[in-house]
Amino acid sequence: MREIEKLKEAILKEYPRLSEDSTFSFRCHRGVPCFNECCGDVNIFLTPYDIIRLKNNLGISSEDFLKKYTLTPFDKNLRYPVLLLKMEENDKKSCPFVRQKGCSVYSDRPWACRMYPLGQASPGEGSGELDKPFYFLLKETVCKGFEENNPMTVGDWLKDQGINDYNEMGEYFKDLTLHRFFQKGGKLTPEKMEMFFMVCYNIDKFRQFLYGSSFFRKFEVDEARWKKMKVDDVELLKFGYEWLRFALFGEQTLKVKNDILEARKQELDKQKKK
Ligand code: SF4
Ligand code: SF4
Repeated sequence: MREIEKLKEAILKEYPRLSEDSTFSFRCHRGVPCFNECCGDVNIFLTPYDIIRLKNNLGISSEDFLKKYTLTPFDKNLRYPVLLLKMEENDKKSCPFVRQKGCSVYSDRPWACRMYPLGQASPGEGSGELDKPFYFLLKETVCKGFEENNPMTVGDWLKDQGINDYNEMGEYFKDLTLHRFFQKGGKLTPEKMEMFFMVCYNIDKFRQFLYGSSFFRKFEVDEARWKKMKVDDVELLKFGYEWLRFALFGEQTLKVKNDILEARKQELDKQKKK
């Protein structure tokens, strides 16, 4: 993890900052001599939306996906749990999804794979020029895609890679991970870490938890939404983000039912009188 921190520092201080109008030349196709070379021995952080897309592509549960394809790096400085795609234990440390013809989960490949050779950084919350989010180029020495004569803008590349849905869901995730609670050094308890992990990474378990407990007796959720998120992972994840902001940071993103609030009030009154 220390290497990743060093890379982050270098990106912020040294890498040229690109906007959506900036141009670069790049093309990746089966004819490049390095084809598939980049799909191994690489740290790919998985977002909650990546996991939904991948586990549905493979037709397995989120629990099975986590067990088979992910690693949970531990670092005492981590503010919230993160997940890495687990590489195979062969010489090349290949990605489990790479095949001779290329990526076997191409239509649902993770955000990081879609973005390459671009990266995206969000330095800070301030309004100064250096705080603004920016794109940068990650030039791996193995990659011959930069030798191809195919100029395009950053915006064109993002569109071509179908990044919109990923970025839209990424914004919800950023509302959590870049929350001022964390910026101010707040730490999650082990129970809240588990809650975060379940909602963000184990969506099927989260669904079992919601629909198999007294959750909906306590919170107002309209019927249409209740029905939709019972079968729609993305809708459920959006709801999960609201619940996390309610439970972790005390934001009023969900409404507790009036009878529950009243019962709680009476309980507190009783305790005061004792
Ligand atoms: S998910 Fe696909 S594109 Fe990404 S590293 Fe694996 S094989 Fe390559
Ligand atoms: S190394 Fe670059 S050009 Fe080669 S397959 Fe990977 S992304 Fe494409």
